[in-house]
Amino acid sequence: DFLSRIKQFDGQLNSYITISDEIALAQAEAADKKLAADDNASLLTGIPVAHKDLFCTNGILTTCASKMLNNFVPPYESTVTSRMQASGVVTLGKTNMDEFAMGSSNENSHYGAVKNPWNLEKVPGGSSGGSAAAVAAGLCVAATGTDTGGSIRQPASFCGITGLKPTYGRVSRFGMIAYASSLDQAGPMARSAEDCAHILQSIAGFDANDSTCSDIATEDYTASIDAPLDGLIIGLPKEYFGDGLDNDVATAIQNAVKEFEKLGGKVKEISLPNLNLSIPSYYVIAPSEASSNLSRFDGVRYGYRCEDPKDLMDMYKRSRGEGFGKEVQKRIMVGTYALSEGYYDAYYLKAQRIRRLIKEDFVKAFEEVDVIMGPVAPTTAFGIGAKTDDPIAMYLEDIYTLSVNLAGIPAMSVPAGFANGMPVGLQIMGNYFSEAKLLNVAHKFQ
Ligand code: GLN
Repeated sequence: DFLSRIKQFDGQLNSYITISDEIALAQAEAADKKLAADDNASLLTGIPVAHKDLFCTNGILTTCASKMLNNFVPPYESTVTSRMQASGVVTLGKTNMDEFAMGSSNENSHYGAVKNPWNLEKVPGGSSGGSAAAVAAGLCVAATGTDTGGSIRQPASFCGITGLKPTYGRVSRFGMIAYASSLDQAGPMARSAEDCAHILQSIAGFDANDSTCSDIATEDYTASIDAPLDGLIIGLPKEYFGDGLDNDVATAIQNAVKEFEKLGGKVKEISLPNLNLSIPSYYVIAPSEASSNLSRFDGVRYGYRCEDPKDLMDMYKRSRGEGFGKEVQKRIMVGTYALSEGYYDAYYLKAQRIRRLIKEDFVKAFEEVDVIMGPVAPTTAFGIGAKTDDPIAMYLEDIYTLSVNLAGIPAMSVPAGFANGMPVGLQIMGNYFSEAKLLNVAHKFQ
């Protein structure tokens, strides 16, 4: 049923890069047998899902939406996808994204832009835009995404679905093609918080293959999902409701907060004074780490290689020049510059210091409140092409999501109504490793 829906609708949306129909049908058959034979089969057995195309999937093309990897079939499986497979999911395919996860609109894909299912003239958000559009359009039940600076939450917000970026280190990054290693984190995108909880249960937890993966025990993410919210203290950062926030988005968020008050929540105004520094800090740290991570794509070991190289240097230069798209090249240049001798202290080190201030703002806030709420993005989904010539406007789109990654805390986007005819996401941020609480708060609202 899902494969035929994909055939019918994905021509318009472009949410999938690869459809793994043979594998899906074989997995579905195996799931049927397991369900018939075993009453205790996992809740995810037979559930059709899709993976963002930066999770390495053994034997299935994994492109990162780049020409650089348009022939790359990984010889191994990422921890996230292998854990979901072990839970019995059916893998429908790999979803479109911004190239190497760099972008906020899914327009930076070698395989073309993704359309927002609510309005085909609008972007679905990015970089996990294919996953968000596929879930919203019913072309899979749930999907994986990754969030380095908002890439799960912002597309979830633009497409009216639920997305969770877990605490940094909660989910293994093994086999996830790296963008900015100190920020990258994988998480679930689905219709509801409850669906997200089931996926998180499958993928979270220690993995010896990722040295930054935490060994703090996971929780049962559905056990207290229905617990009452009486006395929940909700922090509203005043900086999240200032200039630049669309009025209708602000109204939708304020209405959502009122619902939480009816559910027993108490609102407290707080301050996260370094919000405005998150953009300059992030847009130094992320490109710096990207420039280092992406140096592995040299035309030698895997991926795209230019035609008839004259010598080794020519092969490096042309393979990278022809294989990477414009946004990726721009970030590699920015990052290389920021890390070069004489500039490191002025840029990278300074950005890391700001990062610590941002983290301390959150640590202080969570001494007073249980969760923090605000918008995910300053606007609803914008028109395709509207911001492609204005990188600053595109980067400003990330103002409310970046600090969470810089601090490493978990956060969700939860559907909170509509503004200008398009979905609005409410952002709920929590303290380190408070995923169970976040899912509980989101679930009561749904
Ligand atoms: N929009 C941000 C960027 O372009 C975040 C992307 C992400 O989270 N992968 O870097």
